[in-house]
Amino acid sequence: VKAKIAVNGYGTIGKRVADAVRAQDDMEVVGISKTKPNYEAAVAHQLGYDIYAPAANLGAFEKAGMPAAGTIEEMVEKADLVVDCTPGGIGEGNKPLYEKAGVKAIWQGGEDHSLAGFSFNAICNYEQAVGRDLVRVVSCNTTALCRAIYPIDKELGVKKVRVVLARRATDPNDVKKGPINAIVPDPIKLPSHHGPDVKSVLPQINITSAALKIPTTLMHVHTVNMEVEKDCTVDDVKNIFGSQPRIRFVGLGMSSTAEIIEFARDMKRPRNDMWENCIWPESITVEDKELYFFQAVHQESIVVPENVDAIRAMMELESDGAKSIEKTNKAIGLNK
Ligand code: NAD
Repeated sequence: VKAKIAVNGYGTIGKRVADAVRAQDDMEVVGISKTKPNYEAAVAHQLGYDIYAPAANLGAFEKAGMPAAGTIEEMVEKADLVVDCTPGGIGEGNKPLYEKAGVKAIWQGGEDHSLAGFSFNAICNYEQAVGRDLVRVVSCNTTALCRAIYPIDKELGVKKVRVVLARRATDPNDVKKGPINAIVPDPIKLPSHHGPDVKSVLPQINITSAALKIPTTLMHVHTVNMEVEKDCTVDDVKNIFGSQPRIRFVGLGMSSTAEIIEFARDMKRPRNDMWENCIWPESITVEDKELYFFQAVHQESIVVPENVDAIRAMMELESDGAKSIEKTNKAIGLNK
């Protein structure tokens, strides 16, 4: 029997999580929720997802020719586990609904760690998520940092991490936010929350960060600086990153986020998704137990395989994290 998964909130993250769950052979999507019958709902309907909506809006879906299968409460009742992909801060309000229905729940990085009491990254703490009822999959930036820091810490011992994040101002479909003509220190007060959020997964790591919002929608870029305990060479660091299942080295003329996204398009990745950390191997520099590198992060998709692994751990479909990661990657086509 496949695990029954509901996706509450079918936006940037939710639509990708639904498709990634559908690609697995040990779980299925029992429904997705949309508040309004807009173009995204129309595509969900075309893709054959059962759409659930707030009770007051059921009539609107009927009228739009994409009848809803029921209310969001009814969707939750049908599921073993709900992946909450509603906007940051909204998901918190759904906790009583999930508790009442006795379903497991995953929230995204826009919610606080305390909501689930456990923050997840597949490489770092899969085994601790096995059988859990409530999990938070950390944000795009935190996911990328965890994937890079964990294996370096394991092999070389991390003394401290300092990160500067150049953040995409907003997602490509967003017509309301900016800036379009400025670089915005965000927040001005340091450190930014991004680096310290890594501690919700890896509490032992000494890390701070500064973040700037820049006029782009494609990806974030991190400038990472780590001090390590052991002497190492550039090749040692390359070998560590090279052995990681969700780190990709970019080169071959990909000198910017624009070219990385074009590469994803050319590879016919769904929605030009780049689920891996994209590290420029040429940027890896080591000097006296201190290393530097650049990595690009596709904010819309990097957390998607982590959600699939979190489901597999919580539903006890696989106890070994490495095996789950391999299975997820294969099913969505990440190894290509
Ligand atoms: P989004 O705005 O693209 O999608 C949210 C969806 O939820 C929309 O379809 C909206 O209509 C729907 N929704 C709103 N209120 C709802 C409700 N009460 N019930 C059901 N559905 C409702 O948001 P997103 O970018 O997908 O973000 C979702 C979560 O993922 C947030 O916690 C965010 O911080 C996190 N996240 C976002 C990104 C990113 O870059 N977009 C990256 C990583 C994590």
